[in-house]
Amino acid sequence: MRLITHNMLQCHVKGCTKDNFPLKLEEIEIEELEAEFNADFIKSMLNRLDWKALAQTTFSLGIAQLPEEMPEELSDEMLEQLHHILLEIDITSGRMVCQGCNHVYPIRNGIPNMLLTESEV
Ligand SMILES: [Zn+2]
Repeated sequence: MRLITHNMLQCHVKGCTKDNFPLKLEEIEIEELEAEFNADFIKSMLNRLDWKALAQTTFSLGIAQLPEEMPEELSDEMLEQLHHILLEIDITSGRMVCQGCNHVYPIRNGIPNMLLTESEV
């Protein structure tokens, strides 16, 4: 699971509406991928990205120290850094924990399991 995906996932347990995003990554294993850099693609992703969540997540993982707010002008260097963060870091295992309700979503073989039990839906 890449961080671009993580940035779009929120807890969907019934009644969990507070602090349900971003899910906290714990005990994760990371593999680095190589993806072709495409500045336009990164720029087009930025509108859909929750920058604050990304900054918080990358900081907590010790991957990057992004500015708290998305800069108005992104340098080529920044775009390359975002490319690396979003597309080249693959979380192969671990778990995501909701800060609102403590629900745990496991990640196995690079795939987050977002399924809930019946009582949670
Ligand atoms: Zn939750």
